[in-house]
Amino acid sequence: MKYCKRCLYPENHPLNLVIDDEGICSGCRVHEEKDIFDWRTRWKRLEAIADAYRTPGQSYDCIVPVSGGRDSYFIVHVVKNILKLKPLLVSYNKHYNTPLGIRNTAYMRIAFNCDLVERTTKPQTIRALNRATLESMGSIYWHVLAGRTAFPVKTAVHYKIPLIIWGAHQGVDQVGMFSHTEEVEMTRKYRKNHDLMGMEAEDLLRAHPKLNDLDLDTFFYPDDSDLQRVGVRGIYLNNFIRWDSKAQHERMIRNFGYETHSQAGTFDTYNDIDCHHYSGLHDRIKYAKCGYGKVTDHATREIRLKRLSRQQGLDLVKAYADHDAPDEQLFLDWQGMSHDELWELIDQHRNPLFWEKDGSTWRQKNSVLDTTDAGDITPKEECQFHITPSRAPEQDENQYMLIGKGYVHEEGPHRPPAKEWTTRTFLDEVTNNALV
Ligand SMILES: [Zn+2]
Repeated sequence: MKYCKRCLYPENHPLNLVIDDEGICSGCRVHEEKDIFDWRTRWKRLEAIADAYRTPGQSYDCIVPVSGGRDSYFIVHVVKNILKLKPLLVSYNKHYNTPLGIRNTAYMRIAFNCDLVERTTKPQTIRALNRATLESMGSIYWHVLAGRTAFPVKTAVHYKIPLIIWGAHQGVDQVGMFSHTEEVEMTRKYRKNHDLMGMEAEDLLRAHPKLNDLDLDTFFYPDDSDLQRVGVRGIYLNNFIRWDSKAQHERMIRNFGYETHSQAGTFDTYNDIDCHHYSGLHDRIKYAKCGYGKVTDHATREIRLKRLSRQQGLDLVKAYADHDAPDEQLFLDWQGMSHDELWELIDQHRNPLFWEKDGSTWRQKNSVLDTTDAGDITPKEECQFHITPSRAPEQDENQYMLIGKGYVHEEGPHRPPAKEWTTRTFLDEVTNNALV
């Protein structure tokens, strides 16, 4: 197996990457654009798009898909406070929510003063879907990926709001499938092939006839004719803003009290802390299927942003790759499965390039930890992820306010800063972050 000499990705990354003659992957090459481009000029292109969708009065200008983690605060901040658009926030309830994720979402509504539409699909449907996708793909996360990429688009059609604003396009940020200059937008094809591992809800129905008795409406992408009638398009902020998830989260911690947490499978305490399983059981499954886990994604990201050397990245992979999944029992109890039953399904989807069976145990045949390249990145700052203290240590609002009403008194420590946000200071922040 060939690995990139700069970052930690193998050539068989599931999103597809290419390693060039110098041994550097396409993800690292496209990442170089972050330190070359004039991001103020690229920002102007985003402003021009936003201007074309401004509507008078109280109607919504755009849709922003959100969760209780992963860049959501930053995306809403850019859209509401900097671009001065009126967004409708849209959330797919992933059913794996942590209390912290619910709190972060509730405070997001307050801090940014936005309406939020949430879709909660019948729990029985989710359990049946999990069983089907474990059999077909070895995945407990398909419904999350399908729901959060379809529901905002359905909402756009329903409310006739044509513009959807997403955060980072993984095909650009992780693997360099496209340059930032291509300004790639949301497509049905990319969603199916990459977000959904090649399987749409319609394909699942054909493979699992029992699902026909269930209502899978949440997961169906709208028809092309509906998308055209409303003029729906989905743009990605990372084509217009120099994307640095760690720095962005730290700005949201400082300004809006975004809360963070430790995670089983990674040193990143900012992304996906709203989900019990993403960096736990789901990550164990990713490791079995792809030969690497979230910690490799996060270490790669930090190497490219010049906060880790390749060796420091490898040390982090070594520390986290084979982690426990303390959340597994939670999933088994809810799903009504045993550990052996679950892993029998997952083992059928292990990648034979990485795994072989040695008696009754699986042995990893090759790993990035076998590589010795020193890389060509010298860190320019320390890579430290912080765990925030709770903004309300007593958390008594959990019992009577946040979950139902999403409201706390504006006075006191919960109050968002009374600050005039301007494009100039925002661009100073994000461009000063560049480490050229
Ligand atoms: Zn690379």
